[in-house]
Amino acid sequence: MARPIRARIDTSAFRHNYLLAKGRAPTAHAWAVVKANAYGHGLVPCASAIADVADGFALLEVSEAVALREAGLKQSILLLEGAFREDDVLMAAEYGLTLVVHGAEQLRMLELMELDRPVDVHVKINTGMNRLGLPPSCAAKVIERLRASGQVGHITLMTHFAGADDAHGIAHQLEIFDATAAGLDLPCSVANSAALLRFPQSHRDWVRPGIMLYGGSPIPDMQSSDTIGLQPVMTLESEIIGVQTLEPGHEVGYGALFRADRTMRTGTVACGYADGYPRHAPTGTPVLVNGVRTRTLGRVSMDMLSVDLTDIPDAGVGSTVTLWGQGLPADEVAASAQTVSYELFCALADRVPVLTR
Ligand SMILES: *Cc1c(COP(=O)(O)O)cnc(C)c1O
Repeated sequence: MARPIRARIDTSAFRHNYLLAKGRAPTAHAWAVVKANAYGHGLVPCASAIADVADGFALLEVSEAVALREAGLKQSILLLEGAFREDDVLMAAEYGLTLVVHGAEQLRMLELMELDRPVDVHVKINTGMNRLGLPPSCAAKVIERLRASGQVGHITLMTHFAGADDAHGIAHQLEIFDATAAGLDLPCSVANSAALLRFPQSHRDWVRPGIMLYGGSPIPDMQSSDTIGLQPVMTLESEIIGVQTLEPGHEVGYGALFRADRTMRTGTVACGYADGYPRHAPTGTPVLVNGVRTRTLGRVSMDMLSVDLTDIPDAGVGSTVTLWGQGLPADEVAASAQTVSYELFCALADRVPVLTR
C-alpha cells in the first residue's frame, strides 16, 4: 500500500476562481499568474482548465512557457522577470512570449539583438517597491529606445505594489505610476490579487491575479476566501496511521512541546514537514479528521504530526485527515503557522502524489 498522503487538485475550482477574478475586474484583461508550477498546483492542468476563457498566462521560465505552448495554449504568455539571457529573447520571439523589461541590461540586450519577429514588452517601472523596475524618470526615454530598436511590438506599462494587501495600500505608488504614464498613451498593468479585490481604480488594461486563482485570500485579515467566493483548488489529505492514549503528564513528539493534563486520545497522521506541512505550525493548528475540526498537538516531525482525537471517538487508524483545502481554508493553517497560503501551496513536496481532476 502506498503511503496514504495525497494532494487533490480541483481544476474546476481554479476555473471558477479565474472567472470570479474576471468578474471583479470586468473592464480589464486578466493574466492568470501560474508561476512556480501554478503555485504548486500543476502548471498544465490548471492552465488547460481555463484554455477557452483565459486572456493570458504569466510565469517566470521560458521552459514553462514552452510547456504551455506544447499543451496547445495559444494565448499571450508574459515572462514576469523578463529575459535572463539572450537565449530567452530568441525563445520569446520564436514562441510569441511577452517580455518584461525591468532594467537597463534587458533594454540593451533587446537593442543589440536582431530578431526575426518583434516581441511584445511590458516595461516595468519601480514605483517604490525597490525590487525590479526602471526609475520613473527614465520611462519615456526607455519607450523611445524600445521603439527605435525595431525589435519590439506592443508595449504595456506595468508596476507592482508592495502594500496592496495591508494598511499601506497603493495610493502613493499609483500616484507615481500615473504621473509616469501620463502622456505615454500606453496600456497599463498594475493589480495583483489584493489590488484587484480592494482597489478597482487599479484594474486598468490588464490585471494579474495569482493567489486568488488558487482559492487563497490575498487579504485574509480583511476578507476570508469564503467571503470573497473563492473555492479551494488544492486539498492536502492523509490518514491516521497510529493511535495513542495519553494519561495526564504524558508528552507528545520531539521536544515534548505538548503535555496532556487529562486522559486523551491522539492520532498520528502521515504528513510532516518533508511533505510541505509547515514545521512552525504550533499546537492548536486546525485540522479535520473525518470532516470534524480538531487541532494538532506538539511539534510537526519530518514525516508525521499528531492530532487530538479525544472528542472524535469514532476516528482511528485509516480515518481521513484534511490538512487544508476543502472544508479547511489554507489561510487558517497559514495564519496559525505565521505564514501565508502562498508558501503552503508552493512548498508541497514532490513526494506527495497529486490527483488532478
Ligand atoms: C506573483 C505576481 C503576481 C500575482 O500576485 P498575487 O498576490 O499572487 O495575486 C502579480 N504580479 C507580479 C509581477 C507577480 O510577480
